[in-house]
Amino acid sequence: MKKEIGLYVHIPFCARKCAYCDFASFAGREEDEDAYIDAVLREAGTRSVPGAAVATLYIGGGTPSLLPPERMDRLLSGLRECFAFLPGAECSCECNPGTVTPGFLSVLQRNGVNRLSFGAQASQPRLLSLLGRIHTWAQVQESVAMARAAGFRNINIDLMLGLPSQTIADMRETLSEALALSPTHLSCYGLIVEEGTKMQRMVDSGAWTLPDEDTEREMYELCRETLFRHGFEQYEISNFALPGYACRHNADCWKRKEYIGLGCAACGFLGNVRYQNPPGLSDYLAGKPAEESVISREEARFESMMLGLRMTEGVSDAAFTAMHGVSVREAFGNRLDKPLRQGLIEWADGFLRLTRKGMDVQNSVLVELMDE
Ligand code: SF4
Repeated sequence: MKKEIGLYVHIPFCARKCAYCDFASFAGREEDEDAYIDAVLREAGTRSVPGAAVATLYIGGGTPSLLPPERMDRLLSGLRECFAFLPGAECSCECNPGTVTPGFLSVLQRNGVNRLSFGAQASQPRLLSLLGRIHTWAQVQESVAMARAAGFRNINIDLMLGLPSQTIADMRETLSEALALSPTHLSCYGLIVEEGTKMQRMVDSGAWTLPDEDTEREMYELCRETLFRHGFEQYEISNFALPGYACRHNADCWKRKEYIGLGCAACGFLGNVRYQNPPGLSDYLAGKPAEESVISREEARFESMMLGLRMTEGVSDAAFTAMHGVSVREAFGNRLDKPLRQGLIEWADGFLRLTRKGMDVQNSVLVELMDE
């Protein structure tokens, strides 16, 4: 049996920078797209793993759907020449509403992409404009309809909560509008105010006011309750899916499975090495090498815990033991006792997982589990 790996490809081009964004994404660099595809395919040629096959592909960004169809075609067919793909591999592509076209979607279909993820964020025009998004909600609806007409069935919609001036009523309306599009998957991300963004400047200056902690928690609970009522299962802190539609690519990352990352700012993890490509587009195009770090035994064990506890099923003791040669209890010893006693983590069917209370204070649980 072939070894299974994940493959992530970063497409860093965007129409304009959103107010909250600190991802490696660049507006006005369309003239670099061809050279970028060349560089990614060159990198792909150097990163193939003998005997391994791609179980999941994730094309993220940036805005992959900004690439003209012929460039996306060249990228996807080039990847298939460099890597073996498992039959039935999950292949996702992020899309921005308002940028997809039937031609682009048919290129994705032809190259085996079978899952789309739309960054929709909120249904209110005032929130979309505050976020600096380039689309309207009508364009979200049009894009999803276009995707269905092209034959896509597995569709994620990203939403955001905790936005300046966002109310519970806004959140309820956004959820209802999103559910009306019949997605198979919904991601509900709490806003993080990143340093150096317009969002930070506006919040710091007092021009924009964030909802208080209780309101944000209420929005999160509203997402959970609403999605449960509609048959979704929560499999990670921010991710909900209909049964059978959890994103395998992300779940594999949280299970600490190996993956190759291609493109500027992309990270990869193979064996006991993690690498990160240069975050700057020009540096990447100039061939600046990735930074590599060797993961120690202790770091590897902590990574398993940090990533695994994000999932609602938690960390499988059997999988942990198979990966690290010791059980969770042997690795973390009495550091488990306090959060267990406080009801922040619990054992269930051979998995160590966060309780609902623990989900709200995940970081402090992780601090307890770190080496003294
Ligand atoms: S579309 Fe995404 S990657 Fe591009 S600027 Fe907006 S948040 Fe950043």
